[in-house]
Amino acid sequence: MKILVTGGAGFIGSALIRHLIQDCEHHVLNVDKLTYAGNLESLSSIEGHERYRFYQADIADRELMSRLVNTFEPDAIMNLAAESHVDRSIDGAADFIQTNIVGTFQLLEVARQYWTSLNSDQQSAFRFHHISTDEVYGDLEDDGSLFTESTSYKPSSPYAATKASSDHLVRAWNRTYGLPAIVTNCSNNYGPYHFPEKLIPLMILNALEGRPLPVYGNGLQIRDWLYVEDHARALVRVIEEGKVGETYNIGGNNEVRNIDVVKGICSILEELRPCLPVGVERYVDLIQFVADRPGHDLRYAIDSSKIQSDLGWQPKESFETGLRKTVEWFLENQDWWQRVLDGSYNRERLGISD
Ligand code: NAD
Repeated sequence: MKILVTGGAGFIGSALIRHLIQDCEHHVLNVDKLTYAGNLESLSSIEGHERYRFYQADIADRELMSRLVNTFEPDAIMNLAAESHVDRSIDGAADFIQTNIVGTFQLLEVARQYWTSLNSDQQSAFRFHHISTDEVYGDLEDDGSLFTESTSYKPSSPYAATKASSDHLVRAWNRTYGLPAIVTNCSNNYGPYHFPEKLIPLMILNALEGRPLPVYGNGLQIRDWLYVEDHARALVRVIEEGKVGETYNIGGNNEVRNIDVVKGICSILEELRPCLPVGVERYVDLIQFVADRPGHDLRYAIDSSKIQSDLGWQPKESFETGLRKTVEWFLENQDWWQRVLDGSYNRERLGISD
């Protein structure tokens, strides 16, 4: 297939593209605005590949997106472009509204115009795959209940509300115009190339440098963690075999409390990096509880039985194995994260010379 991936320079998008190029035969056009979260260095392993191209563009720029789509003539569009950090959405939601809602709307219109121009065989083969989050469902009590594909939407944060809006738009374009769309809602991802503002990389890098490990509230919030490469495999399974008009929940079946995630990182580091930063006796001593995030959801947990039974997908990593791989990756790839921390990863994008 020829697949146009938006947001492919981000955390999940880059994992998806590495998988599409290295493990599959698909052709990829990566369209990314390169916001602070976009990092082409996450794609250095495939950047010169003959089946891969990159174009810098904003999904909300309808004219440019239309030109790119009509020139590339994709069999599928996978939309991962988004503002994705909950804390940033609380500080200011404008970019979230613009990209997640307006951007998705513009992209849907571009896709619809292009899809309408295809012949009937091409039309029935075409897919618009919108990648979303379990945060659209709000939160769950700590009672064993799970989010299913029919759970009502009840988003808590501005981020989740904008993703919920975009999901509704995609379903409406499927129902009203017949655009062959599929939505996936996934739980928290973690793994290599994760931007250091997110919980797991932040804790690894702070611990390595002997800085405090800030944990929101009492740290008892529960997330269902999925290794990013398992998510990438699920997305490819959906684009290849998913049924039009359907929603698939994707989760790792790994419910872990935030405090236990942080303690888990500390104990892996004790083993892999026993030489602690000066003045630190144990990594866990760096844990500090800080004021909770407003509207912080208590628990997310995904029922992913539908994608497992309908499409035969299963996560390969347990949280234990995935967390160890992640910590090892950050220990072995200091160049990547140093260039994110010092800002040099996006100097070219910003036109800054040394
Ligand atoms: P990310 O923030 O790491 O990457 C987002 C990418 O989108 C970046 O490369 C950025 O430059 C690009 N982008 C932002 N605005 C754009 C625009 N207007 N036009 C084109 N490109 C733009 O995000 P991520 O963690 O990789 O998440 C990808 C998608 O998966 C998002 O839609 C997110 O909501 C969803 N999701 C994320 C998680 C998670 O745990 N990270 C879980 C479930 C779903």
